[in-house]
Formats: sequence, structure tokens, C-alpha cells
Amino acid sequence: MSHPTDADCVFCKIVAGKLPCFKLLEDESTLAFMDINPVNPGHALAVAKGHWPTVDVIPADMLAAVARTAQQVAKAAMKVLAPEGMNLVQANGSAAGQSVPHLHIHVMPRRVGDDVSLNWTPAPGDMKAIEAVADKLRAAL
Ligand code: 5GP
Ligand code: ZN
Repeated sequence: MSHPTDADCVFCKIVAGKLPCFKLLEDESTLAFMDINPVNPGHALAVAKGHWPTVDVIPADMLAAVARTAQQVAKAAMKVLAPEGMNLVQANGSAAGQSVPHLHIHVMPRRVGDDVSLNWTPAPGDMKAIEAVADKLRAAL
């Protein structure tokens, strides 16, 4: 089956073999390779073999395939690199930190005190406000 591509997209170029990468794993729907700006040793990316920018437009089976590949890479990194923690991160839109608009999941090994800033401090929300948003979301599901 043919998937959408974008001639200007760096990940489409990697998928097509037009740009090099340190490839880890490939299957029919996905590719995993090392991130060239790693936050920690082992930082890798699992991408779809198709140009879908964000989680709302990628077909569910392709997203599931990317998640499966990310899990395989994460398991290998946890076994071989023995990090103290592991984040799988997926960004949608520049406000969320997305810089490449081609859906991907970061596999990010973590160490205590590594200063990668993904964490936030939980603080109790307003229950009425939480419920109001839940009602809106439920109506859209
Ligand atoms: P985002 O910011 O969209 O969540 O993540 C994009 C990631 O792609 C960044 O971590 C960035 O380092 C990585 N990246 C950008 N260009 C290239 C490239 O040409 N090759 C590889 N391997 N990674 C890239
Ligand atoms: Zn692309």
C-alpha cells in the first residue's frame, strides 16, 4: 500500500534512504533509528513509513505499529544500556515541542539528575473545571 510522503520532510528522506541514519529496526510500516541530537546515550526515534504529521491524522494501525517498534527499541535499550528510567515521548505541534512534522515516538533512556526537562509538579486541579472538560471530551468520543 502506498503512503503519503513529503519531498521536503527529513524523516521521509530517511525512510526513502535518501538521507543516512543509524538504523536500528525496520518493518513494513515503521523504521527506528538513532536521534542525531541525543538527550542521553541511546536516544532513538520510531517513525511511521508515511508522512502523517500528528496523532490526529495518522491511521490507528500505523500509530500502533510505531508504538510496537518504539517498545522493541525501548526493551533493547533497557537491556543493553540499563538506564535508570525510560521515557517514550510523542509531540504534536510546535507548542508541544514538535520540530519534525512526521509522526515519531522518542525512545529516551533516562538517568537520575540528567536534567532532561519533561517533568512537571502535580498540583490539584479544580474538580468542576476537570469535570467540564471531561464532559466536552466524552461528547467527542
Ligand atoms: P521532535 O522535536 O519533532 O519531537 O523531534 C524531532 C527529533 O528529530 C529531534 O530530537 C531531532 O534531534 C531529530 N532529528 C532532526 N533531524 C534529524 C536527522 O536528520 N536525523 C536524525 N537521525 N534525527 C533528526
Ligand atoms: Zn515525512
